[in-house]
Amino acid sequence: MPTDTNWILKGGSIIDGLNDEVVENSYIKVENGRITEVKEGEPGDTEGFEVINCTGKYILPGLIDCHVHLVWNGSADPQSLIKNEENDRIALEAYKHALDTLKLGVTTVRDLGSPDRTVLHVRNVIDSGLLSGPTIIAAGAPICMTGGHVYYLGYESDGPDEVRKNTRRVLKEGADLVKVMATGGIYTKGEEPGSVQFTIEELSAAKEEALKKNKKVSAHADGIEGIMNCLEVGIDTIEHGIYADCQALEIMKNQGTFLVPTMAVMRQLISSPDIPAYALEKAKQVVGPHFSMLQEAVQIGVKIATGTDCGSPLTPPRYYYDELAIMHEAGMSEMEVIKASTSVAAECLGIEDQRGSISPGKFADLLIADSNPLNDLNSLRGDKLVMKNGVLVS
Ligand SMILES: [Zn+2]
Repeated sequence: MPTDTNWILKGGSIIDGLNDEVVENSYIKVENGRITEVKEGEPGDTEGFEVINCTGKYILPGLIDCHVHLVWNGSADPQSLIKNEENDRIALEAYKHALDTLKLGVTTVRDLGSPDRTVLHVRNVIDSGLLSGPTIIAAGAPICMTGGHVYYLGYESDGPDEVRKNTRRVLKEGADLVKVMATGGIYTKGEEPGSVQFTIEELSAAKEEALKKNKKVSAHADGIEGIMNCLEVGIDTIEHGIYADCQALEIMKNQGTFLVPTMAVMRQLISSPDIPAYALEKAKQVVGPHFSMLQEAVQIGVKIATGTDCGSPLTPPRYYYDELAIMHEAGMSEMEVIKASTSVAAECLGIEDQRGSISPGKFADLLIADSNPLNDLNSLRGDKLVMKNGVLVS
């Protein structure tokens, strides 16, 4: 959304999302929604700018969530709530969840599965400036096998030709990337996370079509066989990756494949008996191996981008900050977690030239926090100013 106000944020300590150094007593100029200057010291002439005194505060890039489902509300069984709803209502609810996410400081999300064009419309309305909200990078409807993982959100496709056709379809509908379901998962009855769904030929068809439009492919991939299939065809981002072993993680590192772990949702799934029984049972089995996998991925040096699966059962948007805490627990430093949530996440989404760091030319998506998140990531849950495209959100 365009802004009439140009800003100078002065006196703050800047964590720019790219570099390890925190630059104290700095200022940031924001003009027409973009960062135009970032320097140490005093800003000089401030005429024509609104000045925000950030002395004692910490400024970092707006946070990015690489895996959300905006159509779900994070209740115990969100799919059951939208199952019989019209798409117009689902889209309105998705907008509400997007706005809630933005207010928390998450200025960009990647939506990895929504029915038909619901979230694509929400993205378009925000992009046009009609309504404020986070930047949404949207997959539209996921491509899955008939009766496969979250088939109720997606376009069911069997065989390479149908996958090809539906990949072309979502791209024609305006998807920013393609989401495929390579294995079974937790939140669909009658399947196992370890089981293969799409074949290599099917995954390959999706990848080929995405490449023609210069788009990335993200795969829901829990089991090792499905993960290896994804790596063989060059899928760009592995979601969850629960049973990725050392060999798979090494390949990911060498190929530059991103891992989007989504740890918080798994812990939430086992936190309450209110979720559907089939999901609870499966979640209990995967939560341990999933965390061990993340620890190994950190040690090996796989590119890890923050993603939560927010919207899924018992995981409303505020669980973003739980995700950060779990990544830290798995061995990432506070700075590594911040990079995974800003510059690395932007690279995962292919928007690193626009967002994800504090440098001239980037959109002014910023958080102004009261205390140093490098001392305690949980402090980001507290009071903060959120700026999106140069407009103050809260
Ligand atoms: Zn998901």
